[in-house]
Formats: sequence, C-alpha cells, structure tokens
Amino acid sequence: MSKEILILGAGFGGLEAATGLREGLDDSYRITLIDKNDHFIIGFSKFEVMFGRQTISGVKSYYANLTHDSVNFIQDVIERIDLEARAVITSSDTYSYDYLIVGLGAELAPQLTPGFVEGGHEFYSLDGAGRLFPVLEAFTSGTLLLSIFGPPYKCPPAPYEAAFQLHDYFRAKGVRKDIALKMLIPGGVPLPVAEGAAVEIERRFAERGIELFTQHKVISLDASARLAQIEGRQPKPYDLFIGVPLHRPPQVIRDSDLGQKGWIQVDPDTLATAYENVYAVGDVTTIPVGDVAVPKAGAFAEAAAKVVVNNLLFELTGRGQPARFEAIGTCFLEFGNDEVAQISANYRGQAEPAVALEGPSEALREGKRHFEDDRIQRWFKQPGG
Ligand SMILES: Cc1cc2nc3c(=O)[nH]c(=O)nc-3n(C[C@H](O)[C@H](O)[C@H](O)COP(=O)(O)OP(=O)(O)OC[C@H]3O[C@@H](n4cnc5c(N)ncnc54)[C@H](O)[C@@H]3O)c2cc1C
Repeated sequence: MSKEILILGAGFGGLEAATGLREGLDDSYRITLIDKNDHFIIGFSKFEVMFGRQTISGVKSYYANLTHDSVNFIQDVIERIDLEARAVITSSDTYSYDYLIVGLGAELAPQLTPGFVEGGHEFYSLDGAGRLFPVLEAFTSGTLLLSIFGPPYKCPPAPYEAAFQLHDYFRAKGVRKDIALKMLIPGGVPLPVAEGAAVEIERRFAERGIELFTQHKVISLDASARLAQIEGRQPKPYDLFIGVPLHRPPQVIRDSDLGQKGWIQVDPDTLATAYENVYAVGDVTTIPVGDVAVPKAGAFAEAAAKVVVNNLLFELTGRGQPARFEAIGTCFLEFGNDEVAQISANYRGQAEPAVALEGPSEALREGKRHFEDDRIQRWFKQPGG
C-alpha cells in the first residue's frame, strides 16, 4: 500500500521538503504539496517590485513547473487540519496523510494596527510592494515614516534594507534633499542579537541623514490627519507612511490544536510536533533560543525542511544518519548602492547564539544573486511562467 506524505504550504520550507523527499523516495510514497497560490516568490524580490526594477509577474515561479512531475501539486485553500483523523480539509477536498509537514509561513495582519490599511503602505506582500511603486514615484517631498510595528517579523534586516534603498531611490531622482526619511522601531537597537550589524546600520543611517527613532512603537495611524500615534509619546506627522505589518500564525493554525492558538512549537532538534508523524518547519514555528527565537527567514525554513527530509529518509529507507536542526543560516543585508553584506547566524550549533556581520563585498553581491537562482533551479524546471 502506498504511503501519503502531505506538505502544507509551498514556500521555502514546503518546496525544499517536497523536492528532497521526492529525490529520496520511490513511487510507493505519494507526495502531495498544497498551496493557495499558483506561484512562489523569493522574499527579497519584493524590493524589485517596490522600486519598479521588476514587474509582479516577472518575480513569480509557477508551481505548474515544479522540478518533479510526480510531486502532486494542489492549488487550494487549507481550511482545517484534523489531527485525530489524520486528514487535511481544503475548500474543495479532504486529504489523508501518513506523514504531515506543515510549512504555512506567517500571515501578515495589517488590520491589527488601526488606521494602517487606510493610511499606510507596506512592501511585505507582493501586492503591497506593487501598490507602493507608483506612490514612491509620485513622492517628491515631505516626511516619510518607515516603521516596524513589532516582533516577530520576517527577515529582520529587511526593513533596514528598505530604508537604504529608499535613500538611494530618492537620491537618484534628485529629491532626497526634500524628503525627511525617518525610521521608527519599537526596540532599543536595530537587530538586537546582531550587534555588529546594528552598529553598522546606525553608522550608515547617520551618514545618509536617515533618522532612527528607537523605542518608538507605532500603535495606530490617524489617516485623515496623517499622524502616527506612538505608545507613550507625542504623535509624529507624516506625508507617506510605510510599515512592516504585524505577523501572526495563519488562520488554519490559529484554529488548530497544533499551534495551541499560536505559532507551532516543535522539538527544536527534529521539528517534530506533539502529534505523531506531524512536523512543522519555517515561519509558522517558534523555536526559542535563550532570550530570542530562531528568526523567521527563508534560509532557516529551508534548513529545517532539510533536517525533516533527512530524518524521514533515514526512518523510511534506513539510508544516511539522523540529523539535528542547528539553526545555522545567513540573511543578506543590502546597504544600498549595490553594497551587499551578510549576517551569519548560528543559533543552536554552539553553546551561545552567535550572529556576525560579513562584508559588504563583491562576492556577497554575487552570492545574493546565486541564492535566488540556485533555489529556483532546484525547485522548478524553468523560472517564471
Ligand atoms: C522583503 C522581504 C525580504 C526577505 N529577504 C530574505 C532574505 O534575504 N533571506 C531569507 O532567508 N529570507 C528572507 N525573507 C523571509 C522569507 O521570505 C520567509 O521567511 C520565508 O518565505 C519563510 O518560508 P516558509 O516556508 O516558512 O513560509 P512561506 O515561504 O511564507 O510559505 C508559506 C506558504 O503557505 C501558503 N499558505 C499559507 N496559508 C495557507 C492556507 N490556508 N492554504 C493554502 N496555502 C497557504 C502560502 O501561500 C505560502 O506559499 C524576506 C521576506 C521579505 C518580506
């Protein structure tokens, strides 16, 4: 009898899990991958869309072109996970599983910040990035507030990369001197665990005249008065407001016992959940390490999926050796002006989490290009449509 492996969410984690398992298992294992979308995008390509360097359709890779034809891709909305019956219910069908891997990512919740949907913009969703481009094009003077509402959010360096690129973008248009670029963050320092990167961000902000306001937690926007309300402080006026929306677990996980109404807690070594043969990887999980947690980033989602694949292949075929999730990964940090650095993090591979800044360098700029190409080539037969 064939065994059913069900993978929920075709992002970094789900795509790596499907590809790795298909490479290692014969056809007596059916692999089904479910996602509500028909395409994948690399997180940082949202910058390409936000600044008009690429179109929305230009950054999509379609699931119809998955590398392995024998991965059964289903485009549907997952509505419920029935852990008792070992079944997943979508808007049009029910799928039973022997093994389940959950990689449903994080949901953006802009509506949790009152006034933000009406009075602000975001670039964390592809559509948001697309809507922002004409707004940036038309913006030639005034105050731009860029804000992180609160943790956790995907790719911790990304909002700072946005600030650097906004500076470059307005400078190239000759309007930078007419724009006050201010970044408001809720904590005391950018990237709290990455001290070297934080110092470098602050230094480069000062050089560029980007004002950084720490301990400034924006709690709501007054869209008609164009005022950002800040916890315990005077409101700040703005002409253009760009925010990183609050993140929360997807609805189906909030409704499920799997996440106990929150992010899914897993065994940090194996990514196993409290339920037999059910694993979770990537942004949908929370993995505390001391006072912090493994960041929500594609590199860690992919690394987690590789561990689950490795250990399932060991269990099902006896090949290889069991592996442990070390949470070792890198995130790019673009300072603008084509200068790319990298934050390398080792959260669980040694006694204390270690996070270091490397670069910027020419090699890392190349590395960023390869990061995208390598993954698209591994997961898809052909890029784009
Ligand atoms: C601007 C920006 C820049 C970034 N830069 C980097 C970077 O340089 N390096 C890096 O490592 N990471 C980066 N990231 C973060 C990275 O994109 C995410 O952390 C990563 O995609 C997480 O992978 P995942 O597999 O956990 O979830 P995702 O990739 O988010 O995949 C989850 C999938 O689940 C699907 N899904 C959710 N709910 C349902 C449902 N109910 N039914 C069906 N399908 C559903 C979604 O459609 C989605 O395809 C960046 C993110 C942003 C926004």
